[in-house]
Amino acid sequence: MKYTELHNHLYGSLSAEDLFEIGIKNKFPRWVIYTELFEKLYMQKVDTENFFKKYETPEKLKEIYLFNFSAPFLEFQNRFNLIIALCKFDSEEIKEVTRRVFERQIKENISYAEYRLTLNPFATEQDYFDKILSVAESLEEVEKKTSAFGRVIISFHRFGKYWEQYSWVKNAMKRNEQIQKYLVGIDFSNVEENDPPKNKKVFFEKILKDNLDNKNSSLAILYHVGESYLDKTPISASRWVLESSKLGVMRLGHAIALGRNHQYLEGKKIVEKVSERIDQLNFELENFEELESFHFKKEKKEILVEIENLKFQNFSKEIEIVQDEKFLENTFKFQNFCMYKISKSNSIIEVCPTSNLRIGQLDNLNYHPIHRFIENKIKLTISTDDPGIFDTNIENEFDILETSNISKVDLEKIRLDSFQYKSEILSERE
Ligand SMILES: [Zn+2]
Repeated sequence: MKYTELHNHLYGSLSAEDLFEIGIKNKFPRWVIYTELFEKLYMQKVDTENFFKKYETPEKLKEIYLFNFSAPFLEFQNRFNLIIALCKFDSEEIKEVTRRVFERQIKENISYAEYRLTLNPFATEQDYFDKILSVAESLEEVEKKTSAFGRVIISFHRFGKYWEQYSWVKNAMKRNEQIQKYLVGIDFSNVEENDPPKNKKVFFEKILKDNLDNKNSSLAILYHVGESYLDKTPISASRWVLESSKLGVMRLGHAIALGRNHQYLEGKKIVEKVSERIDQLNFELENFEELESFHFKKEKKEILVEIENLKFQNFSKEIEIVQDEKFLENTFKFQNFCMYKISKSNSIIEVCPTSNLRIGQLDNLNYHPIHRFIENKIKLTISTDDPGIFDTNIENEFDILETSNISKVDLEKIRLDSFQYKSEILSERE
């Protein structure tokens, strides 16, 4: 049985053994990348001088590398930062990492994989060229020995110079055939709070236009959204997922907010910016009739009054919104509306069960939004996200879903459909 792997971060696929081997050889680890956040999160110093004395085996390294518990996104980021600190990210290493990861996943029955690569925020045009090429060359070498296919996705920093980096990427594709062939999409990852998808509207329009103008180098638009939403209410977070889809995102990363039942928040106060609340209310007004047909219970007047009360306030001010029974019931109905819209769009949701369970802090997979995604006939693919950090693989991800009452028939459909959700197909590359 063969699988696709469509949501995978290349370096997050390093096993503890890989990271140990790479890290112990690195004479100049960039410790500050790791220690800063670690010390902030855990109020403890990291003894970098004696790091590999303390973590003297891969088994020991697992204690601080594996993310095998539930915690907010930043604690996951801390583990990823250990990778960034211990690795060099030079071309030689990138090639080796790509080869290892791709070969391992082929053994795990993956026959098509897309690997996301994030470069540091100060990377130059030459770095972009060299490093994407390194992944491409390595993928090609492995492909020649097997019947599997591998592609590369460039993952931008949300608050970085992605316009400029995009132009570098497009130049690289023009200059080099291998890059042109192997680079198939762009993505945004990392902390998503305070960066509404509307900020990327013009950027996505540019990509969609370039795709039409030059089909043989078209790029899929991928986007992490609705995975971590500590800056807003779940109802706003669900809207972000739908908005991303409307802006042309072809595969939505995680989208937990869209389908999670947020009943557990009852009685809690959630803080969000005035601007976010106004965006939500305006959206409710614009879609009022349709929302009503989803049993969203609110008077038009109620929405108008709330807008009236907010519109003269400072937009970046934060307000508290109580998650009472009515609010949460409406959130649920609103999600149904958003899921319906997404099911009618071309967007696909990338579900990463273990990752979602841990970062999304779902108690168990019975609470995973995949159940509602399936009910609502949303197009889905299943992936591992960072199989190294989460200590998982694709077969395991399918197996654990089966234990949470998802039928074999549904899982089989997702597995097979996923081959149609490759970036080159979604971006209509010729
Ligand atoms: Zn991811």
